[in-house]
Amino acid sequence: MIPQQYLFPDLPEELKGLEDIASDMLWHTVSGSRRLWRKVNPQLWETTSNPWFILESLSKEKMKELSQDEEFLSLFRCQLEERKRYFEEKTWFESNFPYFKGNIAYFSMEFGLGEELPIYSGGLGILAGDYLKAASDLGLPVVGIGLLYQQGYFRQLIDSNGEQIEFYPYNDPALLPVFPLRNESGEWIAVQVQLPGRMVTLRSWWAKVGRVFLYLLDSNDPANIPSDRTITGTLYGGDNEMRILQEIVLGMGGWKLLTQLGIDCNICHLNEGHAAFAIFERAKDCMKKMPSSSFWTALWATRCGNLFTTHTPVEAGFDRFSPALFKKYFSDFAQEVQVPIEDLLALGQQYRGQEEPFNMAYLAIRGSAATNGVSKLHGKVSQRIFQGLFPRWPTWQIPVGSVTNGVHVPTWHSVETDELWSSICGKYRWRQPTETLGDKFRSANDCTLLEWRKKNRLKLILSLRKRSRCHCAMLGKQEHTMSQCVCLFDPNVLTIGFARRFASYKRPTLLLHDKERLIKILTHPQRPVQLVVAGKAHPQDRIGKAMIKEWTDFVARKELHNRVVFVEDYDMRLALDLVQGIDLWINNPRRPWEASGTSGMKVLANGGLNLSELDGWWAEAYAPELGWAIGDGQEHDNDPAWDAFEANQLYSILENEVIPAFYERDERGIPKKWVNMMRESISRLTPYFSTNRMVREYTTDYYIPLCHAAEKRKAKEWNLSRELEAWKRTIASHWHAIHFGNFSFDQTEGQIQFTVQVYLDEIPPDWVAVELYADEKDNAPAFCNMMDRAEPLVGALNGFNYKLVVVTDRNPGDFTPRIRPYHPNAFLPTEATEILWYR
Ligand SMILES: *Cc1c(COP(=O)(O)O)cnc(C)c1O
Repeated sequence: MIPQQYLFPDLPEELKGLEDIASDMLWHTVSGSRRLWRKVNPQLWETTSNPWFILESLSKEKMKELSQDEEFLSLFRCQLEERKRYFEEKTWFESNFPYFKGNIAYFSMEFGLGEELPIYSGGLGILAGDYLKAASDLGLPVVGIGLLYQQGYFRQLIDSNGEQIEFYPYNDPALLPVFPLRNESGEWIAVQVQLPGRMVTLRSWWAKVGRVFLYLLDSNDPANIPSDRTITGTLYGGDNEMRILQEIVLGMGGWKLLTQLGIDCNICHLNEGHAAFAIFERAKDCMKKMPSSSFWTALWATRCGNLFTTHTPVEAGFDRFSPALFKKYFSDFAQEVQVPIEDLLALGQQYRGQEEPFNMAYLAIRGSAATNGVSKLHGKVSQRIFQGLFPRWPTWQIPVGSVTNGVHVPTWHSVETDELWSSICGKYRWRQPTETLGDKFRSANDCTLLEWRKKNRLKLILSLRKRSRCHCAMLGKQEHTMSQCVCLFDPNVLTIGFARRFASYKRPTLLLHDKERLIKILTHPQRPVQLVVAGKAHPQDRIGKAMIKEWTDFVARKELHNRVVFVEDYDMRLALDLVQGIDLWINNPRRPWEASGTSGMKVLANGGLNLSELDGWWAEAYAPELGWAIGDGQEHDNDPAWDAFEANQLYSILENEVIPAFYERDERGIPKKWVNMMRESISRLTPYFSTNRMVREYTTDYYIPLCHAAEKRKAKEWNLSRELEAWKRTIASHWHAIHFGNFSFDQTEGQIQFTVQVYLDEIPPDWVAVELYADEKDNAPAFCNMMDRAEPLVGALNGFNYKLVVVTDRNPGDFTPRIRPYHPNAFLPTEATEILWYR
């Protein structure tokens, strides 16, 4: 089924296709398309950046006028040509995986595609939006699954006391670029999900992101009971019960929708644990296709097609539900799949028990073949977080990998940036692998770079002036204050940006640690600095709100006139302005709590530099010739003394390195050091920290291997799935009985022969691996190799010697044998966590 039906009044023949461009949220990232909409209605484009709304607001007269406006028509035809080319060109995915069949379902609680569809709150959602856009560019068969909220995340105003006030504008679906999903007979497709004593009906919508469709569900159907109609009322609103309801709707409802649409998804990618209930629904769905099989066999059949991406750097960040709440909502389901409710509950617990809450991340990791963090460091941190689920496994072997986040570059670059890059690297550079782009970009000369940066910076300043004027007027400021807004900031001054959610771990007031020192930096007579700050605090977060107040009080100081602004309502549109124009982007979270961070990546293509904590993506990106770093690459928790140390580090780097690099110019006025850093940062980092690279990495490292595994498990009536289930049962019931006998070694020059006796009870020897293990020590890396099964032990049932010769100068005492389950087609230790150590 092709879900492409707009209810749209007649467009003049000359404008046919405009509705297609207006509804496609990928297309707004194309510079030419931005120009097109600005031409249709500059004012509405400025205030909404919502082409669909602009199109809907067109009068017949205006349409007629446009259809005769040659300048507009040529822009428009150019866009139609570009689109034709986009949809016809052979994609990276098609070229590399021509035999791939099926689809990848990408579940996320929020999607940040653009301000015209405000159903995101921050980094997680924007990542999901940037992912869909890159998936379209590269031609991946992806469908997005999310929720359509009646209210998005709150909007922020700063009142005359400098305090945050919150507003929750209503998302009117009629004005958003989303459309009812209808079947061939025109009927609006609805999904029904079982809740205690009732069914909830979910309406379905589609939104277009280039080649990719995003399907959204909402519960505001008049047939639902009033409380159910509000389930999709507010993103991250309500209490814990509301949260479990939202997650049921997203996970179970989302999977049901895919089934109903007949979309065969072999990969289910969970962007954070919110959607983990999809694992349940998917297994139940599979049960129906597998005659006489249990829920557990179905889970074996489907798990290898599930991938879980965790974004949380702290244990406390996961969603948890009390056992009572879980049972309330899953008793019916448990009955349906004929599994005791305690067994379902245990999937979300570390230890089975009546008290421990149900943890969505635990379900996600147990229900997925693979799990990954969002930066190399976060992968390691997550191994520690999930260690409890793999008792006695060494941390480095906890099965959590990493795929470092990226940004969809065309979404975040300015028109000027696009032009410069196009002139050097070609127009369609973000649709194919990007590895060679960096070297090409290096050819840009100093003058070109500086001219371009000037334009980017100037555009930001003009936009800040407009915003500032509007803000002053709203607060009822006098005309002379407002006229000062017109000359806010100086386009030749080093411009620093700091914008993020005001959460404590991001230390949004670290820069204010020594206010006098910061004032000195900002107001230096020859080498001044101007600073833009923005960010929202969660409505319930009193500390976060107090930190906003601390900033607005600081901004209000007389001596700082024209040196620093706090811009209200940090959203994607403000972020666009900032990342395009800023010279230096500062980020100072407490390591390791910034799982990845992406805002710093958005400045890369636009020529901004980063000064950041060695955390998340910056911990792997940083090199002294690319930008600046604070911290020592270690963790210090929330030690105030360490915060003070890093604040001073921050000031010193600004005073001694950043500011001189920006202002020390040669006779032509070129700041050599700055330009060189800029060139290196752009060339080396932009291609890698993009969703283009990220999506390709997910494809080759996860989607394709998982797909092969899923095919194997499905073949011959799910034969392998049944075998694996039986394998696991045997392991589980006999594991307690296996044990070691003697362990001995024989050392000769430079090598050691190890021998160990193993008794396997009734477990076939092919079903286990006996390994020799040594921890990392001093400079020696960790060692872990399979031992070879040698002769059976005399007089023993299923007992063997295992041997291994190791060439090493390590002490024999470093080595110890261990036994773990083995199966060539299982994901281990995820799917069988047992392990037995000799000592
Ligand atoms: C990019 C972005 C974020 C996420 O940035 P972080 O680096 O995680 O702070 C949050 N909000 C907006 C509006 C953004 O554009």
